[in-house]
Amino acid sequence: MNIHEYQAKAILREFGVPVPRGMPAFSVDEAVKGAEQLGGPVWVVKAQIHAGGRGKAGGVKVVKSLDEVKREAARILGSRLVTHQTGPHGKTVHRIYVEEGSAIDREFYLSALVDRETSRVAFVVSSEGGMEIEQVARTAPEKILTFSVDPATGIMPHHARRVAQVLRLSGDLGKQIEGLLPKLYAAFVQKDMSLLEINPLVVTKEGRIVCLDAKVSFDTNALYRHPEIVALRDLTEEDEKEIEASKYDLNYIALDGSIGCMVNGAGLAMATMDIIKLYGMTPANFLDVGGGATKEKVAAAFKIITSDPNVKGILVNIFGGIMKCDVIAEGVVAAVKDVGLKVPLVVRLEGTNVDLGKKIIAESGLNVTPADDLDDAAQKIVGLVKAA
Ligand code: GDP
Ligand code: MN
Repeated sequence: MNIHEYQAKAILREFGVPVPRGMPAFSVDEAVKGAEQLGGPVWVVKAQIHAGGRGKAGGVKVVKSLDEVKREAARILGSRLVTHQTGPHGKTVHRIYVEEGSAIDREFYLSALVDRETSRVAFVVSSEGGMEIEQVARTAPEKILTFSVDPATGIMPHHARRVAQVLRLSGDLGKQIEGLLPKLYAAFVQKDMSLLEINPLVVTKEGRIVCLDAKVSFDTNALYRHPEIVALRDLTEEDEKEIEASKYDLNYIALDGSIGCMVNGAGLAMATMDIIKLYGMTPANFLDVGGGATKEKVAAAFKIITSDPNVKGILVNIFGGIMKCDVIAEGVVAAVKDVGLKVPLVVRLEGTNVDLGKKIIAESGLNVTPADDLDDAAQKIVGLVKAA
């Protein structure tokens, strides 16, 4: 789960992390009032969307008067921001953040994430702030420091010394970074974050280390421990199909291809996506309907897939174990009766109650192309979509 920058900064502030003072706003009036309270003389008006790259897209403006706050707030609020992370359709800005402006001396990059290789929290630090870390990794990997933290000891002074060295921070700035790292680590662990990205982390002209931007994602599996974080969820930032899927506890992720996939088991779902790609098309979604799905859940999943206008064909690929093929067949038939079927549908059923499942589909009168195995199914759906 992702949150907005201003929400992330509020959490970091609770842990004593230095962030600029700021006020979120949902309207131009609120933005101007917030700016007045902050006092100026310099403010930053920032679009709040769940995507980075706002600066280059005109979504972050440094301004020097209340009039300018008003003008920029009016321009940004309600606008559609297209950044390299939003996709070509962009994202509509429903809220902004007005912050006190910082005089930047130097910009750095710092992030923390769960490193599956070491099963620890890892930090990534670079002297190249404001730039995307992927780009730094390509062009100047020697400028990136990574280290993982032993959960038994937490952040140690030697971590801070290495960070200070890479960022060339000495004296008081070295002390500030030594104080900052344990706070970031505590916030990360206690709030069950999966990603914390500060880009840029800056040294101000006054000699203070400040987190100027903050992107935070949380481990969805730990959200039950954090009702205060669940309350920060902004549904306008999420894909409608994914919101609908979450109501039915479906593991669904929207993608931008054209073959809708309904599969049971995450591994089989991945394999199905791969083989669609192998035969020259791309999947419209990842969907694992799970082991204990009911007919209603299957029908809901099918409706979510068909509601996607990019879907030009559907591949149902079920290997019935705990999941029974007849339940899938009933769900698919019920959904099609409800919403119709305007695209080719290939169904591959195997395993528990397969004969019953095939019978239900055959007797339903639906225009379904049966397939024998994964390879056959993928070739058939790609062939049908290309021919359509
Ligand atoms: P992003 O483009 O979505 O990553 O948004 P950021 O919050 O990182 O802002 C983009 C850039 O705007 C930063 O890299 C800074 O260079 C600049 N910026 C943000 N806040 C301030 C500020 O208070 N003062 C100044 N001078 N620049 C700022
Ligand atoms: Mn940034």
